[in-house]
Amino acid sequence: MDTDCLFCKIAGNQIDTEFLFENDTLVVFRDINPQAPVHLLVVPKKHIRSINDLTEDDRSIVSELIMTTKEMAKKEGIDASGYNLLFSVEKGGGQVIFHLHLHLLGGYK
Ligand SMILES: [Zn+2]
Repeated sequence: MDTDCLFCKIAGNQIDTEFLFENDTLVVFRDINPQAPVHLLVVPKKHIRSINDLTEDDRSIVSELIMTTKEMAKKEGIDASGYNLLFSVEKGGGQVIFHLHLHLLGGYK
């Protein structure tokens, strides 16, 4: 855990955040600055800076991120209407918090 990292603090329950889902690997919560009617963040508990920093050992984490996001889309009722999954990578890719996270965006009319 990186003690200066916002998402490590959230995942470690050091900042009061409502989790829509949590297991041993990851947490899911709503983006505080939503860019879509439904905007969730799926965040691994392990501190990984970005997609660039993934190692072979992280394959199961990536798989779980995507499978959980699929389930969350269904729970939010946007699976049939459609949604977007987004990983921002480093500043040039629009990444703001340097702890890997998957955006789930949807619910557009
Ligand atoms: Zn972190």
